Amino acid sequence: MGQSVDRDEVERFRDARDAVLSRIEAAARRAGRDPGRVTLVAVSKTVPAARIRAAVEAGLDVLGENRVQEAEAKSPDVAGAAWHLVGPLQSNKARRALGLFAMIQSVHDLDLARRLDRLVRDEPGGAPFPVLVQVNVDRDPAKAGFDPDALAAALPELDACGALDVRGLMTIGRAVADPDDARPTFAALRELSGRLRRQWPRLGPELSMGMSDDFEVAVEEGATIVRVGRALFGERPPTR
Ligand SMILES: *Cc1c(COP(=O)(O)O)cnc(C)c1O
Repeated sequence: MGQSVDRDEVERFRDARDAVLSRIEAAARRAGRDPGRVTLVAVSKTVPAARIRAAVEAGLDVLGENRVQEAEAKSPDVAGAAWHLVGPLQSNKARRALGLFAMIQSVHDLDLARRLDRLVRDEPGGAPFPVLVQVNVDRDPAKAGFDPDALAAALPELDACGALDVRGLMTIGRAVADPDDARPTFAALRELSGRLRRQWPRLGPELSMGMSDDFEVAVEEGATIVRVGRALFGERPPTR
């Protein structure tokens, strides 16, 4: 595999990154927040390794992927990035995911949490592994994630997963025509986080919410991690 990088592509990614970062900054300021507290995760699913290399060189060095296999295939050809899993994780791929990713944002149920916890414990000298708990805020049957009410009841079991460093919560907003319609989902995740953290201080403050169409609203509502694909890489091929 060649490790070449297209200079024009790097420049285009610099511009795209600057544009998204200034929109994040403006949204943070509107909400009286520190823009430095928002991490931009560049969601690179379906994007070939050569383009991702240009993106990383342009400073987009935290990447989000939704499939273990795809990340596994591309990551050897992309140096200098931290990869986050943002998509569904089947338990038979949990071990590989732990080897690949710096963070698993999509811990969607207790079985997966327990399985990851066991695998991390089995690693000699393994440090707690960074994860986010995925919440199905809108109770959408098509989406994975903890039911917001069930999560409070699951805290003792999650607490028993001591090998997981639970940095916070993640949600996938509903598809909306007007970004403002996503606001109640994001506000609900922030409120849930506040409530749960009073009960369970080990839950970290991260809030991963907001994608290309609604990340500014998410930042206004407290997002500390936004997951942006199309606004950086362009439209994806339709068949996914
Ligand atoms: C694809 C994806 C994103 C990015 O979506 P865009 O609309 O391209 O910004 C964010 N989060 C998850 C979980 C995704 O699967």
